Amino acid sequence: MKLFYDLHIHSCLSPCGDEDNTPNNIVNMALIKGLNVIALADHNTGKNCPAAIAVGKKSGLVVLPAMELTTAEDIHILCLFEKYGQLQQLEEHISRTRMRVKNKPEIFGRQCILDENDRCIGEEENLLIVSSGVSVEDAAALVRGFGGLPVPAHVDKQANGLIGVLGAFDRGLGFTMVECAKDPGLSLPYITDSDAHYLWDISEAEHWIEAETCSAHGVFQALLKMAGEK
Ligand SMILES: [Zn+2]
Ligand SMILES: [Zn+2]
Repeated sequence: MKLFYDLHIHSCLSPCGDEDNTPNNIVNMALIKGLNVIALADHNTGKNCPAAIAVGKKSGLVVLPAMELTTAEDIHILCLFEKYGQLQQLEEHISRTRMRVKNKPEIFGRQCILDENDRCIGEEENLLIVSSGVSVEDAAALVRGFGGLPVPAHVDKQANGLIGVLGAFDRGLGFTMVECAKDPGLSLPYITDSDAHYLWDISEAEHWIEAETCSAHGVFQALLKMAGEK
């Protein structure tokens, strides 16, 4: 079946994500846009995924747990998972290596962890957008080791894009799929996402993936197949 997706959306937990990007607002906006599946991908954390997944379950939207990992070189890697527990393991790993810089809410915004009713149940004190200690050379194997699919994010952008930072796409890094607005000419499959930091930026029903079932399992298997990893 054809499933319309947007696999790169930030919540209010990202310092740069709008405060209106709550689990309920994101899920409802995605449904208004006619999407079947989204992934919540905050910077270096997945702590708002449980709420978004729970809201999605109630509303009939598949929500994949995800994270936008910042490598030591400041390259952004979209890390997609089927199960939240897998993402949690990645988060535990990188939280041990991430630089500890206190967030300044007045400059970067608050970093709120919400429950499925959009209530703030915690706040991340350390700035999430800083680099993790994970090198881009190790990122693909690390993410796959936890069961995830690593996808260099917005490779067409200079800022924090793999090609912009490194100057070229190195196949030896082990990535099998990229994220890009249009075909980057790398002879690799690619997905196109919004990277929405505001609700209105969430994708329209434009990009789709062929999956066997409308479920996290179905979508993740379809992504692996598309990436040639299955
Ligand atoms: Zn990014
Ligand atoms: Zn992003």
